[in-house]
Amino acid sequence: MPKQPLSFDVAVIGGGPAGMMAAGRAAELGAKVVLLEKNSSLGKKLLITGGGRCNIFNAEYDTHRLVEMYGKKGKALFSVFSQFDVTATQEFFESRGLPIKVEAERRAFPVSDSAEDVWKTMLRYIQAGNVTVQTEKPVIGFEAEDGVITKALLKNGEMLAKRFILATGGKSHPETGSTGDGFAWMKTLGHHVIEPDPALVPIVLRDIWRKSLAGISLKGVKLTAMVDGKKRAGSTGKMLFTHIGLSGPLVLNMSKTIGTLLKEGTVTLALDLFPSLDLGAMDRKLLEIFERGKNKMIKNIVGEITQPRLGLVLLSLAGIEGGTPLRQLTRDQRLAFARMLKGMPMTVAGLLGADKAIVTGGGVDLKEVEFKTMRSKLYRNLYFAGDILDFDRPSGGYSLQICWTTGYVAGSSAAGG
Ligand SMILES: Cc1cc2nc3c(=O)[nH]c(=O)nc-3n(C[C@H](O)[C@H](O)[C@H](O)COP(=O)(O)OP(=O)(O)OC[C@H]3O[C@@H](n4cnc5c(N)ncnc54)[C@H](O)[C@@H]3O)c2cc1C
Repeated sequence: MPKQPLSFDVAVIGGGPAGMMAAGRAAELGAKVVLLEKNSSLGKKLLITGGGRCNIFNAEYDTHRLVEMYGKKGKALFSVFSQFDVTATQEFFESRGLPIKVEAERRAFPVSDSAEDVWKTMLRYIQAGNVTVQTEKPVIGFEAEDGVITKALLKNGEMLAKRFILATGGKSHPETGSTGDGFAWMKTLGHHVIEPDPALVPIVLRDIWRKSLAGISLKGVKLTAMVDGKKRAGSTGKMLFTHIGLSGPLVLNMSKTIGTLLKEGTVTLALDLFPSLDLGAMDRKLLEIFERGKNKMIKNIVGEITQPRLGLVLLSLAGIEGGTPLRQLTRDQRLAFARMLKGMPMTVAGLLGADKAIVTGGGVDLKEVEFKTMRSKLYRNLYFAGDILDFDRPSGGYSLQICWTTGYVAGSSAAGG
């Protein structure tokens, strides 16, 4: 006789923070739960959050103000926050031996500054409920009939359960396991999935000169992005200085990458106004222009090299007094100016968006989810939690808060459902 597949009350697909919370909660309520994870261990992304410190939530205890941080789509969250809000989240962790501290911008972290401690707390939670954890178990899809999910398909076999919670995450940092698998299955099942937002957003700069350059547009320039001084991305095109930073096609197209780099550390940019010239050729060009106008002050000739307002900022960045007569300009000063023209330095403050944040969009359409229970409106035994949902999330702990809250509610409903 063929072996009967195991059957559970609840099968959670994806062992990230949302899936762990959902599994733990359903088990706590007495459900027989299985957690299926394709990696060899759970919570790979959780371990790298907040640079390894895990910005576990944002300590905005006022739900109205909290919901505003998620933009227009945030309204859907009122109903889940009424069941598990920031205060409940903090209590959840602190009562399980993980004290929390709050830093600037209300960013909450474990006192130990260790994402691993958050991870361990979640592991203990699912172990306490006797969740069956199956790692290296990639799910490859679902089978459904008459608005009911009948089984999850595994590479070698299948998993039967009364209810399923989908927590496979989004698409960022695919090396952690978030490869968007759930999006594909949901599309096949007829759910509407909003493609991850290309995040075409302007960039906010820290530099104090930014306002003075507003309105200047440049063509054929090269922008290079660096993290902690290391070159990570670069592109050439058209860009625009705005009153808060940069915009234009070159910048918008790089914004998604820059958003990702911001999660790693300080992002600086270098703007090359003459990408076709090397430093030597740039210097020779300056020499030639300066030779022609040697009786002038440098500030009166920069307009021949680039846009005058930009030229003045570059002079000041190169430490050259605008009133310096060209005949008195030293070789070192000229080279410093050439270097600025080839690599004007800027520091990124963030992307323009809700709270100048890193926004990751895309996912299962919120209109197709019943937020009181986190249940699909199309399949009556399917629930969602975490990054699989199409929320815009500013940085600052707001993303994990969605995981804790939707995970908790999905787990509660699936256990009782
Ligand atoms: C570098 C970085 C730093 C971050 N720092 C913070 C921070 O400090 N604070 C904050 O609030 N947010 C932070 N975030 C965002 C946060 O990590 C995510 O919002 C969160 O991890 C999403 O949780 P999730 O459970 O929905 O999905 P994920 O964490 O993506 O987990 C999904 C899980 O599903 C598994 N899976 C996928 N497909 C399958 C399949 N076919 N079969 C079985 N399993 C599958 C994956 O392997 C993975 O383990 C950060 C993100 C990154 C990339």
